[in-house]
Amino acid sequence: MERGDDKGIPVRVALRCRPMAPKEMSEGCQMCLSFMPGEPQVVVGSNKPFTFDYVFDPSVEQEEVFNTAVAPLIRGIFKGYNATVLAYGQTGSGKTYSMGGTYTADQEHEPSVGVIPRVIKLLFQEKEQRQDWEFTLKVSYLEIYNEDILDLLCSSRERSSQISIRDDPKGSIKIVGLTERSVTCAQDTVTCLEQGNKSRTVGSTAMNSQSSRSHAIFTIYINQMKKTDKNSSFHCKLHLVDLAGSERQKKTKAEGDRLKEGININRGLLCLGNVISALGDENRKGGFVPYRDSKLTRLLQDSLGGNSHTLMIACISPADSNLEETLNTLRYADRARKIKNKPVVNLDPQAAELQQLKQQVQQLQVLLLQAHGGILPVSINSMAPSENLQSLMEKNQSLMEENQKLSQGLSEAAGQTAQLLERIILEEQENEKMNTQLEQLQHAVGKLDLQKLVETVEDEELKENLEVLCNLQQTLTELQSEKAAAVEAAALMVNSEEDGTAEAEMGQDNKRSSDDFSTQHALRQTQMSKELLELNKALALKEALAKKMTQNDSQLEPIQSQYQTNIKDLELKVSNLQKEKEELVLALQMAKKDVNQAKLSEQRQKRLQELEGQIGELKKKLNEQAKLLKLKEATESTVSKLNQEITEMKNQRVRLMRQMKDDAQKFRQWKQQKDKEVIQLKERDRKRHYEMLKLERDFQKQANVLRRKTEE
Ligand code: ADP
Ligand code: MG
Repeated sequence: MERGDDKGIPVRVALRCRPMAPKEMSEGCQMCLSFMPGEPQVVVGSNKPFTFDYVFDPSVEQEEVFNTAVAPLIRGIFKGYNATVLAYGQTGSGKTYSMGGTYTADQEHEPSVGVIPRVIKLLFQEKEQRQDWEFTLKVSYLEIYNEDILDLLCSSRERSSQISIRDDPKGSIKIVGLTERSVTCAQDTVTCLEQGNKSRTVGSTAMNSQSSRSHAIFTIYINQMKKTDKNSSFHCKLHLVDLAGSERQKKTKAEGDRLKEGININRGLLCLGNVISALGDENRKGGFVPYRDSKLTRLLQDSLGGNSHTLMIACISPADSNLEETLNTLRYADRARKIKNKPVVNLDPQAAELQQLKQQVQQLQVLLLQAHGGILPVSINSMAPSENLQSLMEKNQSLMEENQKLSQGLSEAAGQTAQLLERIILEEQENEKMNTQLEQLQHAVGKLDLQKLVETVEDEELKENLEVLCNLQQTLTELQSEKAAAVEAAALMVNSEEDGTAEAEMGQDNKRSSDDFSTQHALRQTQMSKELLELNKALALKEALAKKMTQNDSQLEPIQSQYQTNIKDLELKVSNLQKEKEELVLALQMAKKDVNQAKLSEQRQKRLQELEGQIGELKKKLNEQAKLLKLKEATESTVSKLNQEITEMKNQRVRLMRQMKDDAQKFRQWKQQKDKEVIQLKERDRKRHYEMLKLERDFQKQANVLRRKTEE
């Protein structure tokens, strides 16, 4: 196995599928998995493929599993790397079988021997080949059950309560209070395994299948030192973990104590899953990994995502009755593949410590310099971020100040705008009134040629009055032209309002005030100004429309009266014609009796027909004109509606105006109050300062006196 580079090496996953159990066969279960020969791939059902580092189908024996997946880890140990083998899967999927958790001495030469005894054998074989090295080996065997750590190598189970997990200063995990047996040969080590396995079985008969509800961790600690060079030495550890069954609780119908167990077991596995997710997530690099949520993850902390070559053996059953759990296991294992560990050689502890201490000293120096107020040599790279931070803070401060100024300016500008708008509206109202008066006056006076009258009238008093009137007429015309100019100016002002808010002078004074309130006020004012502006625009449109319609109306006026007279004429004509016709009809009847009058009657007939034609035409004309009149009435009603709307809008505008004014007034009052407070505070501050100075002076005087006295 190669030394891990900076990217780290992934946790390897071996999938192992056990053969169909006799019970499953007798229940008529079907095989729901298929294996690709020569490919590390398994297909669930017909279309769900999963690829792993190794895939072992049911025909693969223990030896092949060991040689392919586990043996490389053992060789890495002699180069100084930690290693971990985890067996994961539902109860009955072959974890204990694979790990060798049921090993007894009389199984020794059988092919069914599991991973741990084989590891031990290989370890000592390799050791024998390194005669120039000195080895010290120790083993421990523990079980995590209900979040308690049980020492499987200790006969009295009471000691389990004294076991605790600590962080080693070198960054690894230490289990305090756990039995660590020194071993010198494979036989010793296997005996330890056997003893621990027996404790497991005893526990499981006493506590009913405990073994499937606990995590078992067999650990071998290896220290190796070159005989010729005492300074080059490695120390590493090998964890061999038989995890608890991963099946879901609902399936085992857990209740009461069993449920508690289940929750705790699931806690370990759940945390392991979370740790695996956190480690495997590319985006969460450097993020938090919840190792401390369970004893299991805590114990494996330096093996998962840490300094270890890690292999997960995911065990599954081939039976379709276990399909759901099998899929869960496959998904879990798939996530584990995404973890990248960073194994490093566990070098000579003294050298490593020296290195660490040097680093620590460097860090402390940096901290010290920081504490001294940032007079720092440029060479220290780690200072750049803090400098950055400071400049950012400064920038932030200045931006905040600017923001405050701007919002104050905005609020002032908004206030000015509001006042301007108010004045405009008032002037408009005044203007309107004047217009109506003007029109009335024009009506009354306009038609008279006063100048002539003045010249002709003899009576002095009358003459004077007339002259006054004459003057009035003149002012009237002047007013008219003035009015036109005023209207134009008003229009200009309304149009320029928008620019006005932006251009207004900013931040003349910088008095302290709560920024929030000012900003809110400014925003409110601008909002209302905007509304007002919109309203004004809408109003102008409406007024233009109304004006146009009334103009049309007034153009229609003469036509209308003409039509009315026309209609009357026509009606008269029609009735005349009707009369003539009746007469003719009467005459015709009379003439029928008289043969001589035949010619005459023919003429009369003709005339009658003509008259009927005329009557018809006239009636048509009458209808058309009536229609026109109706149209005119309709436009009149629209105009009146428009006018109503306009007055409504004007009222609204006045209301808005008033609101703005009130708001501005309130703001002014608030601001005055605040300013006053500030001034008072300043005054108080000044007084205090003065008093202090005085006290100081007094004190100085007394001190001087005292000194002189003592000198004397
Ligand atoms: P687990 O520890 O996952 O609960 P076990 O290891 O106890 O499961 O296995 C359950 C049963 O299946 C045991 O009787 C075991 O001997 C058998 N078994 C498991 N894997 C294999 C295998 N690869 N070949 C033969 N038998 C197996
Ligand atoms: Mg088991």
